[in-house]
Amino acid sequence: MIRYLLLAIVIYAAFKLFSADSKRRREAAEKDQQKKIRQQVDGGDLVKDPVCGAYVSEADSISVKDKDKIYRFCSYDCRDKFLKQNTPGEYVSVESNDAGNGE
Ligand SMILES: [Zn+2]
Repeated sequence: MIRYLLLAIVIYAAFKLFSADSKRRREAAEKDQQKKIRQQVDGGDLVKDPVCGAYVSEADSISVKDKDKIYRFCSYDCRDKFLKQNTPGEYVSVESNDAGNGE
């Protein structure tokens, strides 16, 4: 009986070690990813979608021009949401980067 108990403890300890290790690795990967995004944002390659908060590259984004400010979105859904929330008609022009977006 005690043997099973020991076995259970060993398995539990191994499981604990394993999950702690994978958690550490996941956190490191996340930190790495965030760092990369920050670098790209600082470098001007990525912009934040004001609707869903996703980061999009300027080339792939759907953009809306508001006088001298340009908003960029990850999808047409986000763009439409943004336009609905913000009084429509104020925008000078709506440019859409159709190329490569498949929509
Ligand atoms: Zn979005």
